[in-house]
Amino acid sequence: MTDFSRFSRRRFLLTAGASAAGSILLHGCLGNPPDFGSNTQAQISSPVKLTPEQKPETSKVKLGYIAIIESAPLIIAKEKGFFAKYGMTEVEVSKQANWGSARDNVEIGSAGGGIDGGQWQMPMPYQISEGLITKGNKKIPMYVLAQLNTQGNGIAIANKHLGKNINLKLDGTKSLFDGLKSSGNKFKVAYTFPQANQELWLRYWAAAGGIDPDNDISLLTVPAAQTVANMKTGSMDAFSTGDPWPYRIVAEKIGFVAALTAEIWKNHPEEYLAMRADWVDQHPKATKAILKAIMEAQQWCDNFNNRKELSEILSRRDYFNVPKEVLFDPFMGKYNMGERVIDDKSMAPYYWKDQKGSVSYPYKSHDLWFLTECVRWGFLPKERLANAKTLIDKVNREDLWKQAAKEAGIPDADIPKSTSRGVEEFFDGVKFDPENPEAYLKSLKIKKVKL
Ligand code: CA
Repeated sequence: MTDFSRFSRRRFLLTAGASAAGSILLHGCLGNPPDFGSNTQAQISSPVKLTPEQKPETSKVKLGYIAIIESAPLIIAKEKGFFAKYGMTEVEVSKQANWGSARDNVEIGSAGGGIDGGQWQMPMPYQISEGLITKGNKKIPMYVLAQLNTQGNGIAIANKHLGKNINLKLDGTKSLFDGLKSSGNKFKVAYTFPQANQELWLRYWAAAGGIDPDNDISLLTVPAAQTVANMKTGSMDAFSTGDPWPYRIVAEKIGFVAALTAEIWKNHPEEYLAMRADWVDQHPKATKAILKAIMEAQQWCDNFNNRKELSEILSRRDYFNVPKEVLFDPFMGKYNMGERVIDDKSMAPYYWKDQKGSVSYPYKSHDLWFLTECVRWGFLPKERLANAKTLIDKVNREDLWKQAAKEAGIPDADIPKSTSRGVEEFFDGVKFDPENPEAYLKSLKIKKVKL
Protein backbone atom coordinates (compact mmCIF):
# COMPACT_ATOMS: atom_id res chain seq x y z
CA MET A 1 0.00 0.00 0.00
CA THR A 2 1.45 3.38 -0.93
CA ASP A 3 1.55 6.19 1.60
CA PHE A 4 -1.02 8.07 -0.38
CA SER A 5 -3.59 5.29 -0.48
CA ARG A 6 -3.01 4.60 3.20
CA PHE A 7 -3.75 8.25 3.86
CA SER A 8 -6.92 8.02 1.75
CA ARG A 9 -8.07 4.93 3.55
CA ARG A 10 -7.48 6.50 6.96
CA ARG A 11 -9.37 9.59 5.91
CA PHE A 12 -12.22 7.46 4.59
CA LEU A 13 -12.47 5.67 7.94
CA LEU A 14 -12.56 9.01 9.77
CA THR A 15 -15.26 10.32 7.46
CA ALA A 16 -17.35 7.19 7.87
CA GLY A 17 -16.95 7.41 11.64
CA ALA A 18 -18.06 11.03 11.72
CA SER A 19 -21.11 10.21 9.69
CA ALA A 20 -21.96 7.32 12.00
CA ALA A 21 -21.84 9.66 14.97
CA GLY A 22 -24.20 12.02 13.17
CA SER A 23 -26.61 9.20 12.49
CA ILE A 24 -26.57 8.15 16.13
CA LEU A 25 -27.50 11.65 17.17
CA LEU A 26 -30.39 11.66 14.75
CA HIS A 27 -31.68 8.16 15.32
CA GLY A 28 -30.24 7.09 18.66
CA CYS A 29 -33.62 6.79 20.31
CA LEU A 30 -35.21 4.93 17.40
CA GLY A 31 -32.98 1.98 16.76
CA ASN A 32 -29.51 0.54 16.62
CA PRO A 33 -26.70 2.80 15.49
CA PRO A 34 -25.35 2.08 12.01
CA ASP A 35 -22.90 -0.81 12.02
CA PHE A 36 -19.80 -0.43 9.88
CA GLY A 37 -18.22 -3.62 11.11
CA SER A 38 -19.40 -7.18 10.83
CA ASN A 39 -22.38 -6.61 8.54
CA THR A 40 -20.52 -4.93 5.73
CA GLN A 41 -17.36 -7.01 6.03
CA ALA A 42 -19.32 -10.22 5.94
CA GLN A 43 -21.03 -9.36 2.68
CA ILE A 44 -18.34 -7.73 0.58
CA SER A 45 -15.94 -10.26 -0.80
CA SER A 46 -12.86 -8.03 -0.62
CA PRO A 47 -12.19 -4.88 1.40
CA VAL A 48 -13.16 -1.64 -0.28
CA LYS A 49 -10.29 0.77 -0.82
CA LEU A 50 -11.05 4.33 -1.84
CA THR A 51 -8.11 4.96 -4.17
CA PRO A 52 -7.42 8.47 -5.51
CA GLU A 53 -8.81 7.26 -8.86
CA GLN A 54 -12.08 6.33 -7.17
CA LYS A 55 -12.43 9.48 -5.06
CA PRO A 56 -15.76 11.01 -6.13
CA GLU A 57 -15.80 14.43 -7.80
CA THR A 58 -18.42 15.52 -5.28
CA SER A 59 -19.66 14.10 -1.99
CA LYS A 60 -23.10 15.59 -2.52
CA VAL A 61 -26.16 14.32 -4.38
CA LYS A 62 -29.93 14.47 -3.97
CA LEU A 63 -31.88 11.29 -4.71
CA GLY A 64 -35.66 11.10 -4.66
CA TYR A 65 -37.68 8.18 -3.36
CA ILE A 66 -41.33 7.16 -2.98
CA ALA A 67 -42.50 5.59 0.30
CA ILE A 68 -42.84 2.02 -1.02
CA ILE A 69 -40.46 -0.91 -0.48
CA GLU A 70 -38.73 -0.34 -3.84
CA SER A 71 -36.84 2.56 -2.22
CA ALA A 72 -35.23 0.39 0.48
CA PRO A 73 -31.71 0.28 -1.06
CA LEU A 74 -31.58 4.12 -1.15
CA ILE A 75 -32.69 4.47 2.45
CA ILE A 76 -30.43 1.66 3.70
CA ALA A 77 -27.41 3.02 1.83
CA LYS A 78 -27.98 6.26 3.73
CA GLU A 79 -28.89 4.77 7.12
CA LYS A 80 -26.16 2.12 7.18
CA GLY A 81 -23.47 4.53 6.07
CA PHE A 82 -22.77 2.83 2.73
CA PHE A 83 -22.90 6.12 0.81
CA ALA A 84 -20.42 7.64 3.27
CA LYS A 85 -18.21 4.55 3.04
CA TYR A 86 -17.62 5.28 -0.65
CA GLY A 87 -17.01 9.00 -0.13
CA MET A 88 -20.59 10.21 -0.70
CA THR A 89 -20.90 11.86 2.69
CA GLU A 90 -23.60 14.39 1.79
CA VAL A 91 -26.31 12.28 0.15
CA GLU A 92 -29.82 13.50 0.67
CA VAL A 93 -32.55 10.92 0.17
CA SER A 94 -35.57 13.04 -0.45
CA LYS A 95 -39.14 11.78 -0.06
CA GLN A 96 -41.26 12.64 -3.11
CA ALA A 97 -44.97 13.25 -2.63
CA ASN A 98 -45.77 11.23 -5.76
CA TRP A 99 -44.33 10.18 -9.11
CA GLY A 100 -45.39 13.42 -10.76
CA SER A 101 -43.40 15.41 -8.18
CA ALA A 102 -40.37 13.16 -8.68
CA ARG A 103 -40.61 13.83 -12.41
CA ASP A 104 -40.97 17.60 -11.83
CA ASN A 105 -38.03 17.59 -9.41
CA VAL A 106 -35.68 15.74 -11.73
CA GLU A 107 -36.64 18.14 -14.51
CA ILE A 108 -35.21 21.05 -12.51
CA GLY A 109 -32.30 19.10 -10.96
CA SER A 110 -30.79 19.69 -7.52
CA ALA A 111 -29.36 23.06 -8.62
CA GLY A 112 -32.94 24.27 -9.01
CA GLY A 113 -34.08 22.77 -5.70
CA GLY A 114 -35.06 19.43 -7.21
CA ILE A 115 -33.28 16.09 -7.39
CA ASP A 116 -30.44 14.60 -9.43
CA GLY A 117 -32.17 11.25 -9.79
CA GLY A 118 -33.41 8.41 -7.63
CA GLN A 119 -36.08 5.71 -7.73
CA TRP A 120 -38.20 5.26 -10.86
CA GLN A 121 -40.89 3.08 -12.31
CA MET A 122 -40.21 1.93 -15.84
CA PRO A 123 -40.19 3.35 -18.39
CA MET A 124 -40.16 6.80 -16.71
CA PRO A 125 -36.42 7.38 -17.32
CA TYR A 126 -37.11 6.73 -21.01
CA GLN A 127 -40.22 8.91 -21.06
CA ILE A 128 -38.28 11.76 -19.42
CA SER A 129 -35.28 11.27 -21.74
CA GLU A 130 -37.57 11.44 -24.75
CA GLY A 131 -39.57 14.40 -23.44
CA LEU A 132 -42.82 12.42 -23.41
CA ILE A 133 -43.90 13.37 -19.89
CA THR A 134 -41.98 16.59 -19.26
CA LYS A 135 -43.11 20.20 -19.43
CA GLY A 136 -43.12 21.43 -23.00
CA ASN A 137 -41.90 17.97 -24.00
CA LYS A 138 -38.37 18.97 -23.13
CA LYS A 139 -35.95 16.06 -23.45
CA ILE A 140 -34.03 15.52 -20.23
CA PRO A 141 -31.56 12.71 -20.90
CA MET A 142 -31.39 10.17 -18.08
CA TYR A 143 -29.36 7.05 -17.42
CA VAL A 144 -30.70 3.83 -15.94
CA LEU A 145 -27.96 2.64 -13.56
CA ALA A 146 -29.31 -0.28 -11.53
CA GLN A 147 -32.47 -2.16 -10.78
CA LEU A 148 -33.60 -1.60 -7.20
CA ASN A 149 -35.81 -4.68 -6.73
CA THR A 150 -37.90 -7.43 -8.22
CA GLN A 151 -41.48 -8.37 -7.13
CA GLY A 152 -43.17 -6.68 -4.14
CA ASN A 153 -46.30 -5.31 -5.82
CA GLY A 154 -49.91 -6.33 -6.01
CA ILE A 155 -53.42 -5.62 -7.20
CA ALA A 156 -55.87 -4.81 -4.43
CA ILE A 157 -59.66 -5.09 -4.86
CA ALA A 158 -62.38 -3.41 -2.79
CA ASN A 159 -64.21 -5.62 -0.28
CA LYS A 160 -67.52 -5.31 -2.12
CA HIS A 161 -66.11 -7.72 -4.71
CA LEU A 162 -65.22 -10.46 -2.23
CA GLY A 163 -66.29 -13.93 -3.34
CA LYS A 164 -66.69 -13.02 -7.04
CA ASN A 165 -63.67 -15.02 -8.26
CA ILE A 166 -61.56 -11.93 -8.87
CA ASN A 167 -58.27 -13.74 -8.50
CA LEU A 168 -54.97 -14.20 -10.27
CA LYS A 169 -56.90 -15.83 -13.10
CA LEU A 170 -59.92 -13.86 -14.21
CA ASP A 171 -61.36 -16.63 -16.38
CA GLY A 172 -65.13 -16.67 -16.04
CA THR A 173 -65.45 -13.13 -14.70
CA LYS A 174 -66.06 -11.39 -18.04
CA SER A 175 -69.82 -11.30 -17.43
CA LEU A 176 -69.24 -9.60 -14.07
CA PHE A 177 -67.21 -6.80 -15.71
CA ASP A 178 -69.66 -6.58 -18.62
CA GLY A 179 -72.56 -6.33 -16.20
CA LEU A 180 -70.92 -3.46 -14.33
CA LYS A 181 -70.21 -1.75 -17.64
CA SER A 182 -73.77 -2.02 -18.95
CA SER A 183 -75.16 -0.71 -15.65
CA GLY A 184 -72.99 2.39 -16.11
CA ASN A 185 -70.73 1.34 -13.25
CA LYS A 186 -67.56 0.29 -15.02
CA PHE A 187 -65.04 -1.43 -12.75
CA LYS A 188 -62.63 1.38 -11.81
CA VAL A 189 -58.94 0.65 -11.27
CA ALA A 190 -56.38 3.18 -10.08
CA TYR A 191 -52.62 3.54 -10.09
CA THR A 192 -50.47 6.43 -8.98
CA PHE A 193 -48.80 7.26 -12.31
CA PRO A 194 -49.94 6.45 -15.85
CA GLN A 195 -48.17 4.34 -18.46
CA ALA A 196 -45.61 2.83 -16.08
CA ASN A 197 -45.17 -0.36 -14.00
CA GLN A 198 -48.40 -0.19 -12.01
CA GLU A 199 -50.58 0.36 -15.03
CA LEU A 200 -48.66 -2.22 -17.04
CA TRP A 201 -49.08 -4.96 -14.37
CA LEU A 202 -52.75 -4.23 -14.15
CA ARG A 203 -53.24 -4.27 -17.91
CA TYR A 204 -51.28 -7.50 -18.26
CA TRP A 205 -53.33 -9.21 -15.55
CA ALA A 206 -56.69 -8.05 -16.93
CA ALA A 207 -55.89 -8.88 -20.56
CA ALA A 208 -54.55 -12.33 -19.64
CA GLY A 209 -57.99 -13.01 -18.11
CA GLY A 210 -59.83 -11.88 -21.25
CA ILE A 211 -60.70 -8.43 -19.89
CA ASP A 212 -59.85 -5.61 -22.30
CA PRO A 213 -58.41 -2.84 -20.11
CA ASP A 214 -59.31 -0.18 -22.70
CA ASN A 215 -62.95 -1.21 -23.02
CA ASP A 216 -64.18 -3.47 -20.23
CA ILE A 217 -62.86 -1.50 -17.25
CA SER A 218 -61.92 2.06 -16.51
CA LEU A 219 -58.35 3.04 -15.60
CA LEU A 220 -57.40 6.19 -13.76
CA THR A 221 -54.49 7.91 -12.03
CA VAL A 222 -55.15 8.76 -8.37
CA PRO A 223 -52.72 9.90 -5.63
CA ALA A 224 -51.93 6.99 -3.24
CA ALA A 225 -53.57 8.45 -0.13
CA GLN A 226 -56.74 9.33 -2.03
CA THR A 227 -56.83 5.85 -3.54
CA VAL A 228 -57.27 4.25 -0.14
CA ALA A 229 -59.97 6.77 0.77
CA ASN A 230 -61.78 6.01 -2.50
CA MET A 231 -61.54 2.27 -1.87
CA LYS A 232 -63.04 2.82 1.58
CA THR A 233 -66.03 4.75 0.28
CA GLY A 234 -66.50 2.20 -2.51
CA SER A 235 -66.17 4.75 -5.32
CA MET A 236 -63.19 2.82 -6.64
CA ASP A 237 -62.92 -0.92 -7.27
CA ALA A 238 -59.21 -1.70 -7.46
CA PHE A 239 -55.74 -0.34 -6.94
CA SER A 240 -52.35 -1.41 -8.34
CA THR A 241 -49.37 -0.50 -6.19
CA GLY A 242 -46.23 -1.47 -4.27
CA ASP A 243 -45.93 -2.86 -0.74
CA PRO A 244 -46.95 -1.94 1.89
CA TRP A 245 -50.19 -0.70 0.31
CA PRO A 246 -51.78 -4.00 -0.81
CA TYR A 247 -51.08 -5.44 2.65
CA ARG A 248 -52.46 -2.37 4.43
CA ILE A 249 -55.67 -2.60 2.45
CA VAL A 250 -56.23 -6.12 3.77
CA ALA A 251 -55.04 -5.26 7.29
CA GLU A 252 -57.42 -2.31 7.43
CA LYS A 253 -60.25 -4.46 6.02
CA ILE A 254 -60.78 -2.18 3.04
CA GLY A 255 -60.23 -4.89 0.47
CA PHE A 256 -58.33 -7.99 -0.60
CA VAL A 257 -55.43 -8.73 -2.91
CA ALA A 258 -56.36 -10.48 -6.16
CA ALA A 259 -52.82 -11.09 -7.33
CA LEU A 260 -49.25 -10.41 -6.42
CA THR A 261 -47.16 -9.22 -9.34
CA ALA A 262 -44.77 -12.04 -8.36
CA GLU A 263 -47.59 -14.41 -9.38
CA ILE A 264 -48.16 -12.62 -12.68
CA TRP A 265 -44.48 -12.73 -13.60
CA LYS A 266 -42.12 -14.52 -11.22
CA ASN A 267 -38.93 -12.50 -10.53
CA HIS A 268 -40.26 -9.65 -12.67
CA PRO A 269 -38.28 -6.42 -13.01
CA GLU A 270 -39.74 -3.69 -10.82
CA GLU A 271 -38.16 -0.30 -10.08
CA TYR A 272 -34.84 1.29 -10.93
CA LEU A 273 -32.13 3.73 -9.93
CA ALA A 274 -31.82 6.33 -12.68
CA MET A 275 -30.19 9.75 -12.73
CA ARG A 276 -29.90 12.79 -14.95
CA ALA A 277 -27.34 12.03 -17.65
CA ASP A 278 -25.68 15.43 -17.24
CA TRP A 279 -25.05 14.73 -13.54
CA VAL A 280 -23.57 11.31 -14.31
CA ASP A 281 -21.42 12.66 -17.16
CA GLN A 282 -20.03 15.35 -14.85
CA HIS A 283 -19.52 12.96 -11.93
CA PRO A 284 -18.60 9.50 -13.22
CA LYS A 285 -16.67 8.54 -10.07
CA ALA A 286 -19.41 9.78 -7.76
CA THR A 287 -21.92 7.81 -9.83
CA LYS A 288 -19.89 4.65 -9.30
CA ALA A 289 -19.58 5.45 -5.60
CA ILE A 290 -23.38 5.73 -5.43
CA LEU A 291 -23.71 2.44 -7.30
CA LYS A 292 -21.30 0.66 -4.96
CA ALA A 293 -23.23 1.94 -1.95
CA ILE A 294 -26.54 0.84 -3.49
CA MET A 295 -25.12 -2.60 -4.27
CA GLU A 296 -23.95 -3.00 -0.69
CA ALA A 297 -27.33 -1.84 0.57
CA GLN A 298 -29.07 -4.31 -1.75
CA GLN A 299 -27.02 -7.18 -0.34
CA TRP A 300 -27.93 -6.04 3.15
CA CYS A 301 -31.63 -5.80 2.26
CA ASP A 302 -31.61 -9.25 0.66
CA ASN A 303 -30.45 -10.95 3.85
CA PHE A 304 -33.66 -12.18 5.50
CA ASN A 305 -31.95 -11.89 8.89
CA ASN A 306 -31.89 -8.12 8.30
CA ARG A 307 -35.52 -7.79 7.25
CA LYS A 308 -36.83 -7.13 10.72
CA GLU A 309 -34.44 -4.22 11.10
CA LEU A 310 -35.20 -3.17 7.52
CA SER A 311 -38.91 -3.00 8.42
CA GLU A 312 -38.09 -0.92 11.49
CA ILE A 313 -35.95 1.57 9.58
CA LEU A 314 -38.43 2.01 6.71
CA SER A 315 -41.37 2.36 9.12
CA ARG A 316 -39.89 5.46 10.79
CA ARG A 317 -41.71 8.73 10.59
CA ASP A 318 -38.93 10.22 8.42
CA TYR A 319 -39.43 7.49 5.85
CA PHE A 320 -42.70 5.59 5.32
CA ASN A 321 -44.42 6.53 8.59
CA VAL A 322 -46.32 3.23 8.79
CA PRO A 323 -46.50 0.48 11.46
CA LYS A 324 -43.47 -1.79 10.98
CA GLU A 325 -45.72 -4.86 11.08
CA VAL A 326 -47.27 -4.06 7.69
CA LEU A 327 -43.79 -4.16 6.18
CA PHE A 328 -42.35 -7.19 7.90
CA ASP A 329 -44.71 -9.97 6.78
CA PRO A 330 -44.50 -9.19 3.05
CA PHE A 331 -40.70 -8.92 3.42
CA MET A 332 -40.79 -12.55 4.62
CA GLY A 333 -43.05 -13.63 1.75
CA LYS A 334 -46.14 -13.76 3.99
CA TYR A 335 -49.12 -12.16 2.33
CA ASN A 336 -52.57 -12.20 3.80
CA MET A 337 -54.41 -11.77 0.53
CA GLY A 338 -57.83 -11.62 2.18
CA GLU A 339 -59.35 -14.58 0.33
CA ARG A 340 -56.18 -16.68 0.63
CA VAL A 341 -52.78 -16.67 2.30
CA ILE A 342 -49.37 -16.82 0.66
CA ASP A 343 -46.45 -17.95 2.79
CA ASP A 344 -43.55 -18.40 0.41
CA LYS A 345 -40.22 -16.62 0.63
CA SER A 346 -39.80 -16.82 -3.14
CA MET A 347 -42.75 -14.38 -3.45
CA ALA A 348 -41.05 -11.68 -1.34
CA PRO A 349 -39.31 -8.66 -2.84
CA TYR A 350 -35.66 -9.21 -3.77
CA TYR A 351 -32.94 -6.60 -4.00
CA TRP A 352 -29.67 -8.29 -4.93
CA LYS A 353 -30.29 -11.79 -6.27
CA ASP A 354 -33.47 -13.69 -6.99
CA GLN A 355 -34.17 -17.10 -8.49
CA LYS A 356 -33.30 -15.79 -11.96
CA GLY A 357 -29.96 -14.27 -10.96
CA SER A 358 -28.92 -10.66 -10.50
CA VAL A 359 -31.56 -8.20 -9.37
CA SER A 360 -29.32 -5.14 -9.22
CA TYR A 361 -27.94 -5.45 -12.75
CA PRO A 362 -30.14 -3.49 -15.18
CA TYR A 363 -30.84 -5.98 -17.98
CA LYS A 364 -31.46 -4.26 -21.30
CA SER A 365 -33.88 -7.07 -22.17
CA HIS A 366 -36.17 -5.82 -19.39
CA ASP A 367 -36.08 -2.24 -20.64
CA LEU A 368 -37.11 -3.66 -23.99
CA TRP A 369 -40.09 -5.47 -22.42
CA PHE A 370 -41.31 -2.22 -20.83
CA LEU A 371 -41.00 -0.37 -24.15
CA THR A 372 -42.68 -3.26 -26.00
CA GLU A 373 -45.55 -3.26 -23.51
CA CYS A 374 -45.94 0.49 -24.10
CA VAL A 375 -46.20 -0.23 -27.83
CA ARG A 376 -48.76 -2.96 -27.07
CA TRP A 377 -51.08 -0.46 -25.41
CA GLY A 378 -50.48 2.40 -27.84
CA PHE A 379 -48.45 4.54 -25.41
CA LEU A 380 -45.64 4.47 -27.95
CA PRO A 381 -45.98 4.20 -31.74
CA LYS A 382 -45.02 0.76 -33.04
CA GLU A 383 -42.24 2.35 -35.10
CA ARG A 384 -40.43 2.77 -31.77
CA LEU A 385 -39.73 -0.94 -31.67
CA ALA A 386 -37.50 -0.70 -34.72
CA ASN A 387 -35.14 1.73 -32.98
CA ALA A 388 -35.67 0.52 -29.40
CA LYS A 389 -32.17 -0.91 -29.25
CA THR A 390 -30.59 2.46 -30.08
CA LEU A 391 -32.66 4.18 -27.43
CA ILE A 392 -31.91 1.51 -24.81
CA ASP A 393 -28.18 1.64 -25.58
CA LYS A 394 -28.31 5.38 -24.94
CA VAL A 395 -30.29 5.29 -21.68
CA ASN A 396 -29.24 2.00 -20.06
CA ARG A 397 -25.74 2.29 -18.55
CA GLU A 398 -25.16 -1.30 -17.51
CA ASP A 399 -21.49 -0.60 -18.38
CA LEU A 400 -21.25 1.73 -15.36
CA TRP A 401 -22.93 -0.91 -13.19
CA LYS A 402 -20.32 -3.47 -14.25
CA GLN A 403 -17.42 -1.08 -13.62
CA ALA A 404 -18.75 -0.24 -10.17
CA ALA A 405 -19.34 -3.93 -9.39
CA LYS A 406 -15.76 -4.79 -10.33
CA GLU A 407 -14.39 -1.92 -8.23
CA ALA A 408 -16.55 -3.05 -5.31
CA GLY A 409 -15.06 -6.54 -5.53
CA ILE A 410 -18.33 -8.23 -6.51
CA PRO A 411 -17.46 -11.81 -7.57
CA ASP A 412 -17.40 -12.41 -11.32
CA ALA A 413 -20.14 -15.01 -10.93
CA ASP A 414 -22.50 -12.24 -9.72
CA ILE A 415 -21.82 -9.99 -12.73
CA PRO A 416 -24.09 -11.03 -15.64
CA LYS A 417 -22.28 -11.81 -18.88
CA SER A 418 -25.21 -10.89 -21.12
CA THR A 419 -27.41 -7.79 -21.25
CA SER A 420 -30.36 -10.15 -21.78
CA ARG A 421 -31.93 -12.30 -19.06
CA GLY A 422 -33.28 -14.43 -21.88
CA VAL A 423 -36.83 -15.55 -22.61
CA GLU A 424 -39.35 -14.49 -19.94
CA GLU A 425 -42.54 -16.39 -19.15
CA PHE A 426 -45.76 -15.04 -17.67
CA PHE A 427 -48.39 -16.83 -15.59
CA ASP A 428 -50.65 -17.35 -18.61
CA GLY A 429 -47.91 -19.15 -20.51
CA VAL A 430 -47.13 -16.20 -22.81
CA LYS A 431 -43.42 -15.83 -23.53
CA PHE A 432 -41.37 -12.74 -24.26
CA ASP A 433 -38.25 -13.38 -26.30
CA PRO A 434 -36.14 -10.19 -26.26
CA GLU A 435 -34.72 -11.26 -29.63
CA ASN A 436 -38.20 -11.01 -31.14
CA PRO A 437 -40.54 -8.56 -29.38
CA GLU A 438 -42.83 -8.51 -32.43
CA ALA A 439 -43.57 -12.23 -32.00
CA TYR A 440 -44.56 -11.50 -28.40
CA LEU A 441 -46.93 -8.74 -29.54
CA LYS A 442 -48.42 -11.04 -32.17
CA SER A 443 -49.01 -13.77 -29.57
CA LEU A 444 -51.14 -11.48 -27.38
CA LYS A 445 -54.90 -11.69 -27.91
CA ILE A 446 -55.78 -8.35 -26.34
CA LYS A 447 -53.74 -5.34 -27.45
CA LYS A 448 -54.21 -1.90 -28.92
CA VAL A 449 -51.37 -1.92 -31.43
CA LYS A 450 -52.24 -2.97 -34.98
CA LEU A 451 -49.50 -5.14 -36.44
CA1 CA B 1 -43.72 -0.52 -7.95
